[in-house]
Amino acid sequence: MTPCSQCGSPPERRLDPQAGRMVYACPGCRHRAEVTTCEVAATASWELINDPDMDRHTCKAAMLPRYFETGGKWGARCRGCGHEVEGFGSLQGARAGWARSMR
Ligand SMILES: [Zn+2]
Ligand SMILES: [Zn+2]
Repeated sequence: MTPCSQCGSPPERRLDPQAGRMVYACPGCRHRAEVTTCEVAATASWELINDPDMDRHTCKAAMLPRYFETGGKWGARCRGCGHEVEGFGSLQGARAGWARSMR
């Protein structure tokens, strides 16, 4: 799998067997994908948040975005300079919002 875009660590799969849910997350910096109910979706979500082809921020740090979720809303942030977009209803929305924020 793609390593974490923020720190380069391989992801760890976390399972909640009772709820039947799983998520891939970075053990190094806690970059976390969406919580899903199947392996395929969990893997796809991890690939999305660590997509090496995603637009890097245009600041000096040129970081790939770090995604986060709060209260069901998704956002993306540059750890180099603090540039942030948030309030999206989905991870896909946050990806599009990130790309738009640099045009
Ligand atoms: Zn990481
Ligand atoms: Zn930046």
